[in-house]
Amino acid sequence: MHHRLRRLVLIGLLLPACSSSDPAPTTVDVPDAPPARGTIRLRVLVSSSLDEVVARRVVESISRYYRRHGFEIALTRAPQVIAESYLLQGGDGHEAVEPMRTFLRRWAVPAGAEIIVVVLPSIAAPCSGIGRFFSKLEGLTFTSDSVKSDPLLRTLNLLASFTPTTLLSVRDIRRRAPSNVEFIAAHELGHAMGLSHARGKNLMATPPPQCVPPLTADQRTIIKRWLHNKA
Ligand SMILES: [Zn+2]
Repeated sequence: MHHRLRRLVLIGLLLPACSSSDPAPTTVDVPDAPPARGTIRLRVLVSSSLDEVVARRVVESISRYYRRHGFEIALTRAPQVIAESYLLQGGDGHEAVEPMRTFLRRWAVPAGAEIIVVVLPSIAAPCSGIGRFFSKLEGLTFTSDSVKSDPLLRTLNLLASFTPTTLLSVRDIRRRAPSNVEFIAAHELGHAMGLSHARGKNLMATPPPQCVPPLTADQRTIIKRWLHNKA
């Protein structure tokens, strides 16, 4: 398992950054070490069924991505081990999200200025109804704003206010070809800071391009504002 995970991280590293010669880029990647734009604070939770080194590598890949755009990543404390292996299970949406609600109550309230990153083997229990529905769910982010504004999420009746929480599925990230832990983790973190899906070759593109795409100038501005509001 360790060997496979190491390979996953290497594949992520080997993916080229999107360049200005690729078709229809919305922006070119920024040079190394741009002026500091702020610090993104993370609290990392890792499933006891994974090695903690997996969480460390996820954080490293997030740091690598955001540092290129001038944002530092800081952990508010050492990664903590949690018992959960998935946070969605059961049949229909309401029942399936109950473990998630319990989890948010325990870890994400009161709402803090950080982002909670939960590293799991899988987000949805594989044999559950929702697990079949979300069979390839690599990352999922909940924020107080998204559960208010998204009609589907609103029906789940999650909490009104909580710390933005990003779930990452190591198993499903690994299954994707090309595997790209850096893209998935950075993309989900973008959602946690208020970014929506956007057209063109950028971090919030969906489906993702075959490379690690940059943040657009607008996306950097939104993140900067988000950090400023949390400070
Ligand atoms: Zn997305």
